[in-house]
Amino acid sequence: QSCLSFVKETSFLNAYITVTEEVALKQAAEADKRFSQGKPLGLLDGIPFAIKDNFSTQGIQTTCASHMLKGYIPPYNATVVQKLFNHGAVLMGKTNHDEFGMGSGSTDSIFGPVKNPWSYSKTYKEKRFAGHNDADWLITGGSSGGSAAAVSAGTCYVALGSDTGGSTRNPACHCGVVGLKPTYGLVSRHGLIPLVNSMDVPGIITRCVDDAATALGVLAGHDPYDSTTFQNPFEPFKLPETIDLSKLCIGIPKEYHAPGMSAEILSLWTKVADMFEDAGAKVIAVSLPHTPYSIVCYHVLCTSEVASNMARFDGLQYGHRSDVEDSTEAMYAATRREGFNDVVRGRILSGNFFLLKQNYEQYFLKAQKVRRLIADDFVKVFESGVHVLLTPTTLGDAAPYLEFIQEDNRTRSAQEDVFTQCANMAGLPAVTVPVGLSRRGLPLGLQFIGRALCEEQLLTVAKWLE
Ligand code: GLN
Repeated sequence: QSCLSFVKETSFLNAYITVTEEVALKQAAEADKRFSQGKPLGLLDGIPFAIKDNFSTQGIQTTCASHMLKGYIPPYNATVVQKLFNHGAVLMGKTNHDEFGMGSGSTDSIFGPVKNPWSYSKTYKEKRFAGHNDADWLITGGSSGGSAAAVSAGTCYVALGSDTGGSTRNPACHCGVVGLKPTYGLVSRHGLIPLVNSMDVPGIITRCVDDAATALGVLAGHDPYDSTTFQNPFEPFKLPETIDLSKLCIGIPKEYHAPGMSAEILSLWTKVADMFEDAGAKVIAVSLPHTPYSIVCYHVLCTSEVASNMARFDGLQYGHRSDVEDSTEAMYAATRREGFNDVVRGRILSGNFFLLKQNYEQYFLKAQKVRRLIADDFVKVFESGVHVLLTPTTLGDAAPYLEFIQEDNRTRSAQEDVFTQCANMAGLPAVTVPVGLSRRGLPLGLQFIGRALCEEQLLTVAKWLE
């Protein structure tokens, strides 16, 4: 009830596309009944959660924030949604995001942009720069901005995002909450409408690191419907209260000193590295030499997979179909022109360009090869004894909406992914933790990147900092 009242009070944030009040009340009543009858309880029994609107929910509209899928009602639940239901969790609704997960602001949705709850915080209001008025609310980051805002505004305890290049960590960082991208293959993608199959991972957004570990325990594990999930059974874990930092080696990758990073982030990063060192950890500078090429290769691979994935939206099988009936081709073209925004269409065009017979080797294959080098850089650093890497998550604090949309969205979006997409390229787990406030009174966060399948270690270190 209290989460529902927050959903209603903060509806101006536009965090939810669909609020599932009836489902929530029914599931909560069932949870109450189980509790009062002394029945065994699920790990998340009675816990309110939200899901990004690109996860399929049986009988509940799933739009991908796009005209293409507006009104689409999936006939089945994504595996992660089903797992949350099986553990007794209570669905508050489907959250807003950039169309098909393409973006870094949560500003490109057919339902309108998501507003960052911190835009209305006392600290920000007191400290914001002169000249800003109430229309200058802040972006949440993206693309899972609705999920991050939903957790940050207190409307739920866990929200699922998707993370292809940073879409869970970026908004979690800007909204002052925890965002975990698990190892690729640890959590099923079945029912997550794909963006980039080789990088997509369901992401977990929570108020604290312990909650992320609990949610991971529910969500992780082999799924016969997703052949890329690991076969080995996943052992849910509880994070220890203390960690022996003297046995920990933290790497600071020098290539993450990216142009455009704010001075505040740089000093926070240095301060936290010093804190770990003072507390007994070994902190060393490391090099991941292929990092500077990562963002370019990410976009070649991302758009190529997008071009292939989006081919399914032809007006015949799902969602929108244009009225244009001059020919089948004309119907396809009109459906896609009407159904997709220009970011999506731009990526389809770029991707098809990279996949052309005469370009394939020069762009797609080369990007694949560089991807391998990027992944190998991480392996080498971890093999040298480093347990986790400490890096920034974002270049700065959340931008005001008007400033964000002034710049060319695609350029801005690409810059925003600079620290996050490498972990997707390499399939590694990464988590962002809120660490402090900027001069403007907005959340800042830092990212830890861990060894593949070492979520427990990663989250234990993150918890120490929290
Ligand atoms: N900004 C990234 C992109 O637009 C994020 C994608 C994602 O993680 N869904 O590709």
